[in-house]
Parts: sequence; C-alpha cells; structure tokens
Amino acid sequence: MKNLAILGSTGSIGVSTLDIVAEHPERFRVITLTAGRNLALLEEQVRRFQPLAVAVLCSKDARQLKQSLGAAAPEILSGVEGLMACACFPDVDMVVSAVVGAAGLVPTMAAIEAGKDIALANKETLVTAGPLVMAAVERKGVELYPVDSEHSAIFQALEGHRKGDVRRLILTASGGPFRNRALAELKNVTPADALAHPNWDMGRKISIDSATMMNKGLEVIEAKWLFDLPAERIAVHIHPQSIVHSMVEYVDGSIIAQMGIPDMRAPIAYALSYPERVPLNLPPLDLCSLGQLTFEEPDLSRFACLGLAYEALKAGGTAPAVLNAANEVAVEAFLEGDVSFLDIPVIIRAALDEHQPQPLEQIEGVLRADRWARSAARRFIHKSAT
Ligand code: MG
Repeated sequence: MKNLAILGSTGSIGVSTLDIVAEHPERFRVITLTAGRNLALLEEQVRRFQPLAVAVLCSKDARQLKQSLGAAAPEILSGVEGLMACACFPDVDMVVSAVVGAAGLVPTMAAIEAGKDIALANKETLVTAGPLVMAAVERKGVELYPVDSEHSAIFQALEGHRKGDVRRLILTASGGPFRNRALAELKNVTPADALAHPNWDMGRKISIDSATMMNKGLEVIEAKWLFDLPAERIAVHIHPQSIVHSMVEYVDGSIIAQMGIPDMRAPIAYALSYPERVPLNLPPLDLCSLGQLTFEEPDLSRFACLGLAYEALKAGGTAPAVLNAANEVAVEAFLEGDVSFLDIPVIIRAALDEHQPQPLEQIEGVLRADRWARSAARRFIHKSAT
C-alpha cells in the first residue's frame, strides 16, 4: 500500500490521480489532500477518499469546509502552513506535487526535506530552483518521478540504458491551437481561442502556456535538471498528434520513443507505481486507424516564448525563475483581457532584460527573484497601458 499526499487535488492532475486511486484502492491510499478555492469538489473528494487531513488556501474556506463536512470532517488546515503540513504528514510515502505555478516550490521542497518521494507534476519547482531541488533529492535519498507526459516518456525511454550513451533528448510538442496561424493572425486571438487545446484537456494556465509554447520552454528547463543535460542537447519537435510523448536519441543514432494516447492518467500512474505498471481503463492506442504521425521544426518567430526559455536556461541562476514569474503575470493579464496574446513574450522579454541573474544558492533567492519579476512584469503592463 502506498500512502499519498495530493497537493492540488481539485486541479486536472489531482482529479486524474484520484481516478487512479479509485481504480486501484488495493495499491494506493489518500492520506492528505490540498486545494485552492474549489471547496465543492474538495468536499466531495474528502467524503469519497477519507483523508486524515486536508488544507485549503484561506482560513475562512477552512471553517466553511469544516461546517459542511460536519462529523465527516478530517483535520482541516489552511494557508501555506497547512499546505506544508499536508506535504510532510506522517505516514505519507509519496507526495503528488500538482499545485499550479511557482506556489508549488516551497511545499515540494519541504516534502523532499521530510524524506518523501515525489511525483512531480508542478514543473515550476524544477524550472525555478532545479539545482537546489535536485541537490536536496540527492542529499535526502528520496525518489523524484516525473509526471509531465514528456518527461515521463524520456524517463521510460532511458530505462535500461547508460546515461553516457545519450546523444540528446527530443521533447515533442503538439503546437497548441495556433500551430498553423501566421504571426499577424495571432495578434487578435482571444483567451477562449487560446484555451481550446486540440489534444490535451488541461487547466487554464497550462493551456495558455501551450498556445504560446512557453509550456514547452518550461519543459526544456525541467528536462535539463531532471536528466542533467545541457540546453544544446534538448531539442523540441512539433508533433500535432501528441502520440509520441517524447524521445531519447542515443550515440548510435537509435531513437527510443514512448507512445500512448494523450491522457495524463498514464504518466501519473507510472510515477505512482514505478517500476511496476498498473492496468488502466483507457482506450488502446490504435496506430493503424491513426494512419500517420508527423513531425516539424518549431517556428521561433511565431512562438517567441520557446526561444526566451532557452535564453533563460543559458543565462542560468535566477533567470528561469524570472522567466516563469513574468510569464505567470503575463498569462494572468491576458486571461483578464488586459494584454494581447503577442504581448506575453514582450512582457517576459522586458523582465529578463532588466534582470541581473544571481547564482542559485538558497530557495529564498529564488523567491526574491520571483517576487521581483512579478512586480517588474506588472510595472511593464501598467506602463504600456497608460
Ligand atoms: Mg507536458
């Protein structure tokens, strides 16, 4: 039996994780759940999975949840302390880190320090603080399994091979909803256009990141820290069918790819049950009816965010944290209708240009860079609006 803490249980990854738990109650037990503001869904999850403790964002929501659960209420916590307590809860074997955005870093680090294994869906943890996180993983002797489908694919394609034999990693990207749009057409796209992803059903933030291809940029940075390869040896191919989830190319020219239907339950289950595989109730991948798989080079003139991510990775230190925070602010402003789609990379560029990257020594330095970038991005948005 594996005891789980699920951080971000009402989000897309959290819900899929609970699907797997429900399918395999003999293997997994939920010990703690944390959520942001979706109290209705959290309440339903508590009744169904009976965790020992839950945490929500604010104390008012905690009181409300306690009231509506009545006698069925577990320990109910709130705020960052509540999130940390749930991440480090006694008896938890594995923490599924699926909080959205940079907010996932601190609880994930706390869980590592508490000796918990990690199933990592929150890519910002590695994007903003990769070297610190990987050093803590090493020092504490815990396991960190990727949940992101691309990194899970690479993790699987590396199994049984020698790291020294790897030539490069090839991350696949669907290209998002605007893969075939000309630059001029991108100017006036709306949040609703950008949220309509062709293959994957995801949360709002990551859907916009997928439309700008910043998601792939963040994944390149994530791959660098997970697999310890330099940016020049991590390539991106556009693959609109999202069947090949990523590939590893070896020194002899062999490429090993991992394939499957685009459904997050597969990489989540692999992270939860590694090295075993558990049966999942998913439709099979039917390659014959699919007919063909295609690949193309990403166009950096239309997807500037991908180029910015490579730049931030090469600049190193706090630059990726600034890239990520400025992007979060820009995406939020786009969703609010305050800036246009093509302003997103302009805002990030402005923050990166103004930033002097500092070496990463402590989490506090990452958080400082994150705060600085948020205010720089907001300042820039405000200035261009007036
Ligand atoms: Mg991904």
